[in-house]
Amino acid sequence: MDRGVIVGIDLGATFIKAGLITQNGQIITQLQRLTEATQGRKKVVENIAFVIKHLIDNQKRDSILGIGIGSPGYVLNGQIVGGAENIKDWENVPLREIIEKRFSVPTFVDNDVNTVTLGEKVFGLGKRSKNFICITLGTGIGAGLVLNGQLYRGARGYAGEIGHTTVDYKGWLCNCGSRGCLEAYAGTEGILARAQVLLKKTPQSILRKSQERLTPKIICEAAKKGDPVAQEVVKEVGEYIGVGLANVVNLLNLDRVIIGGGISQAGRVILEPIKASLKRYTLNLGRKGLKVNLSILGARAGLLGSAVLVLEKMEQEVKNEREYLHF
Ligand SMILES: [Zn+2]
Repeated sequence: MDRGVIVGIDLGATFIKAGLITQNGQIITQLQRLTEATQGRKKVVENIAFVIKHLIDNQKRDSILGIGIGSPGYVLNGQIVGGAENIKDWENVPLREIIEKRFSVPTFVDNDVNTVTLGEKVFGLGKRSKNFICITLGTGIGAGLVLNGQLYRGARGYAGEIGHTTVDYKGWLCNCGSRGCLEAYAGTEGILARAQVLLKKTPQSILRKSQERLTPKIICEAAKKGDPVAQEVVKEVGEYIGVGLANVVNLLNLDRVIIGGGISQAGRVILEPIKASLKRYTLNLGRKGLKVNLSILGARAGLLGSAVLVLEKMEQEVKNEREYLHF
């Protein structure tokens, strides 16, 4: 049981990150390859197969315990159902079946935010909690939920869409067609739009010199340096995220919030306003014992979580066997 490695794949719109991972969550080898998302599913599948082949070529076949893949989009029974706008034709792709057939290794596929959450659950701060949310802040905003110690996927596999929960029902239009979604304010587009508005009022901001190529990262850096416009933007973004999270905490009585994704790497400058807002909008009872932290796994969470897909399956099999013997 303690020997063998897992192939973990973290499929993104830009890169495919892959690694050989031990059962203890050690990443032994790591590599990445361009996804070539604009070229469509055939090319993307080919690129995934390429990295898998590269990783397992020098391994004994029976030492490969399984392949786990985290992919954008809604995933049901190993099939990408849809919802991955950043990869062309990434819809109705029976990815599990394709990879399993090609390599004859048990393969598991789940949504990438779910795999990040599983990574946190087994190897990150989620180890200490049975009821938590892991929010990923980036171009879009997603979340994974662990309830009673289990990842909650929902009826059709798309639980956790916190980015499209409403934080202002008369608010900004969102890409999803609705109004006032959290993502409209705290996703990359919303952050940049808000910064441009504030910049018009305060032209002396240091953001001015990078106005044409602003990114959330540049804004967070400027906020750390004390720039008032950047600080205002980050504060507002944090407030909206806190409101969205408080709704979920109040609904589900969670005891931990883990914040991951690109923008979370800005550190305290984003963490503090989120915490303040969460405190304000969470019920007294819900606030008790609530822990709010940035992810300690960072970008590794997705890769580790894809390995957890395999580990969970193995655990289940051992459990089934035990039950069978007991019977
Ligand atoms: Zn929306």
